[in-house]
Amino acid sequence: MDEQAKIPRATAKRLPIYYRYLTFLNDAGTNRISSAELAEATKFDAATIRRDFSYFGALGKRGYGYDVEALLEFFAKVLDQNSLINVALIGVGHLGQALLNFNFHQSSNMRIAAAFDINENRGKILSGVPIYDMNELEEQIKAQRINIAILTVPQGVAQEITDTLVAAGVKGIMNFTPLRVSVPKGVRVQNVDLTNELQTLVYFIQNYASITTGK
Ligand code: ATP
Repeated sequence: MDEQAKIPRATAKRLPIYYRYLTFLNDAGTNRISSAELAEATKFDAATIRRDFSYFGALGKRGYGYDVEALLEFFAKVLDQNSLINVALIGVGHLGQALLNFNFHQSSNMRIAAAFDINENRGKILSGVPIYDMNELEEQIKAQRINIAILTVPQGVAQEITDTLVAAGVKGIMNFTPLRVSVPKGVRVQNVDLTNELQTLVYFIQNYASITTGK
C-alpha cells in the first residue's frame, strides 16, 4: 500500500507501542488524548509523536488532541496488513509451554501461531495455540507463511529439527537449546541460552561484585 510505504521505519517501530497504549485508553473509555499525555505514557517526546502522527494523516485537531478510536482503527489496519508476525514453536516441554503461555503479549504484532511436538499427548490446544504433530511441520509452516521459529527441544535433536525448519523455508530461529546449530547463508539464528546467562551473572557477582558496585 502506497500510503503505508511512506511511513519511516523508526515510526513504524513505535507503532505497536502507540497501539497498545491506545487500546488501553479505549478500553478505559477515553475518547481523546493530547500528544503531551501520550508522551508521558510512552516516554517518546511529544514532538516525535506529533511527527509520527502526521504520517498517518490529519488525525489530530488543535486544542482537541487525537481521537483515540480513529487512531486505533488506522493502526489496526496498518499492523494487520503489514506486520502481524506468526511464529512457530518447536518442542512443547516445560520451557516451550512457558513461552506459549507468555506468547509475547507485550507486542501487538508477534505471536506464536502454531506449536509442534513429537509427543502427541501434549494436547491439541495450549494457551490458545494449536499443537501439531511434527509430521505436519512443513505443511503448516508453508500454509501459515511462517518464517520464524522458536526452538525449545532437547539439544540432541536441535540440528536435525533446524535442518527441517530451513527446508520448510524458515529464515530465523530463536534457539533456546545450548547447541550452536548450523544454518545456511541467509538464515539467522538468535541464541538464548538461559543457563549460560544465569551462570555468567553468577560468575560476575562472585568475582567482580566489589568492582561493579564500587564497594
Ligand atoms: P518435559 O519434561 O515436559 O518433556 P522438558 O522441557 O524438560 O519438558 P525436553 O526433554 O527438553 O523436556 O523436551 C522438550 C520438548 O521437546 C518435549 O515436549 C519433547 O516431547 C519435545 N521433543 C523431543 N524430541 C523432539 C523432536 N524430535 N521433535 C519435536 N519435539 C521433540
